[in-house]
Amino acid sequence: MLIQVIYEESKEAARAAMEKPHPAADAVEIRLDPLGDCDPGEFLGNGKLPVVVTSRTPDSGGSFRLDRQKRQAQLERSIEAGAAYVDLEFETDDEAWISRKGNSRIILSAHLPEGMPDDIEDLYGKMSQRTGVDVLKIVPFAHSLTDNLRIRQLLKRARREGKNLAAFCMGAKGAVSRILALAWGSWATFASSRPGRESAGGQFTVEELSERFRVKEIGEGTRLLGVVGFPLGHSLSPLIHNRALRETGIDSCYLPFETEMLGEFLPLPEALNLAGFSVTLPYKETIREHLDEVDATAARLGAVNTVVKKGNRLVGSNTDVPAALRVLERAHPVKDRTVAILGAGGAGRALAFGLRERGARLIIHNRTVERARALAAELGCRSGALEDCGREPCDILINATPVGMHPSAGEMPVPAAAIRAGMVFDLVYNPRETRLLREARKKGCRTLEGLEMFLEQAADQFRMFTGTEAPLGVMRRAAEEALGGPKNSDFNDG
Ligand code: NAP
Repeated sequence: MLIQVIYEESKEAARAAMEKPHPAADAVEIRLDPLGDCDPGEFLGNGKLPVVVTSRTPDSGGSFRLDRQKRQAQLERSIEAGAAYVDLEFETDDEAWISRKGNSRIILSAHLPEGMPDDIEDLYGKMSQRTGVDVLKIVPFAHSLTDNLRIRQLLKRARREGKNLAAFCMGAKGAVSRILALAWGSWATFASSRPGRESAGGQFTVEELSERFRVKEIGEGTRLLGVVGFPLGHSLSPLIHNRALRETGIDSCYLPFETEMLGEFLPLPEALNLAGFSVTLPYKETIREHLDEVDATAARLGAVNTVVKKGNRLVGSNTDVPAALRVLERAHPVKDRTVAILGAGGAGRALAFGLRERGARLIIHNRTVERARALAAELGCRSGALEDCGREPCDILINATPVGMHPSAGEMPVPAAAIRAGMVFDLVYNPRETRLLREARKKGCRTLEGLEMFLEQAADQFRMFTGTEAPLGVMRRAAEEALGGPKNSDFNDG
């Protein structure tokens, strides 16, 4: 069951949401705690879907601030007014209402904002001994991606024991359990009505769970894919890959694995039987030592952005550089041309190797000059500080630093006066038109957006993950919808 949580501070907004739930919602949960002193009866009986009434206290991550008597009165009124389900907090006064539930069913819940307790199995055991309870709900905060696996284990046990259990993790690291909850046998997964009205950390919207991740369609045979990186909050990869999977009718779901510690992700490919995964910042280099094999391109570049499971082996590849070169070469020849690269990090380095192989003459500029010098020594090319950029003209100027990226969209890696190039290619793709590209256009330079490279590398990954040609147009539309803004690349092939 997909339950839409209505978490509003005004009664009018709550009523409006109750009356018009998302078509994919199977039930709605009205959260009374943000509404303060209210009559739960006001929210019952108007809509067509079953209603869960919940009022969460601060100990369980809620905002109920009224006195104990008010709380009891609200619970009583919810039952009297015919709530399909009433949520009661485990080991609190709430439990007195289990035996007075009338025609309502009881969800007995334990929300654990502190994190996953070592004895979660014991907690479940204790909760499942309560009589008169219809559904158990256990929701810890995930401090590690591996907490998701413990939730799966718990759900397996509940299924075996014939109990209705809703379980998943809060927080960004719990995203996987929210998406896979139904596939793992959770009685329900919960989602917000709209962005900004989440009732718990890591909660998706109903639209995201139903349309992007298609949670109700995930089954035993669904091939799981994903992306590991940090941060992932603004990553477009789940959006565009899932849109492409949907378009091509492939039974597969692409999941976000956000973690600042790669180590905790490492057991997941095997535990979840991932068919493949994308690797993004900051793990493109460090993932290599955890793979069974890397292909020749990735080995040469020293960076992996794609991992595919082949038999029992995890094989790493790099689609970033071939994609960047394809996009660039469609727009401008590179052989024997002077290319200035700003940045000597993962992307700058990889692109520099690729361009050198294509016969470009390179100059590497970097904030940390020693790093530019070291890379230039490996490549046999020139180097300098960022301040040296523009001393002489070049054919192509590439920004491979994150400068200008959202939320610092007003910044530029070099001043406008240093832009002395025929073409400027900015790897940053959020925003689509960076300030660097805007200034370049003003000066009459041709420009190339990072989005083109991003889409091309994702299309290559899609082909490697699925064996099917990527629907590039669909991926492009999804990215454009998310990023908005005008289309400014002079060169792309739709
Ligand atoms: P990285 O390995 O962290 O390297 C960052 C580079 O940017 C380093 O050279 C660093 O210089 C420089 N830098 C960082 N902050 C700076 C600042 N405030 N001022 C000047 N220089 C700064 O990152 P990466 O993987 O190379 O990625 C770089 C950018 O390319 C990111 O914005 C990423 O989103 C983008 N990218 C886009 C695509 C795409 O598909 N469009 C693909 C890959 C990467 P120091 O050496 O001095 O630290």
